[in-house]
Amino acid sequence: MSTTSETLVSRKRRLQRDRVERHRQRRFDGGCLDLGNMNQTCLHCSARFWLCEKDRNSSLSSPRFAICCAGGKVRLPPVLDPPPYLLDLYTSSQLEAISFRKNIRAYNGILACSSFGANTVATGYNEPIYTENLLY
Ligand SMILES: [Zn+2]
Repeated sequence: MSTTSETLVSRKRRLQRDRVERHRQRRFDGGCLDLGNMNQTCLHCSARFWLCEKDRNSSLSSPRFAICCAGGKVRLPPVLDPPPYLLDLYTSSQLEAISFRKNIRAYNGILACSSFGANTVATGYNEPIYTENLLY
């Protein structure tokens, strides 16, 4: 609905709200959010994405993604294999390993961050502050 008293700014806001609402209505189907398939891959780091996560300035036919590796600027070392004991817990069919896998969420929650300590070293006014952090 447009009126003659609508200002340019209020018109822009109304049109933006309408666009957001139309976008939201297209995405929701029966209360479920449908993002489509996660079938996009960053050319630099092979991270997986939904198409809607593409960089705003890239095209639908050749999407680029910047939230993973900043377009190839960030390179992480390859993930190392776990120590043999942990690998065995994840792959073995022994009772200890089966029990470990059954309870891994509880172990992870218990050990996530039971205590945190930090020593602060201030170097002076308006300079960086360095900390030594310890997790127990
Ligand atoms: Zn990437």
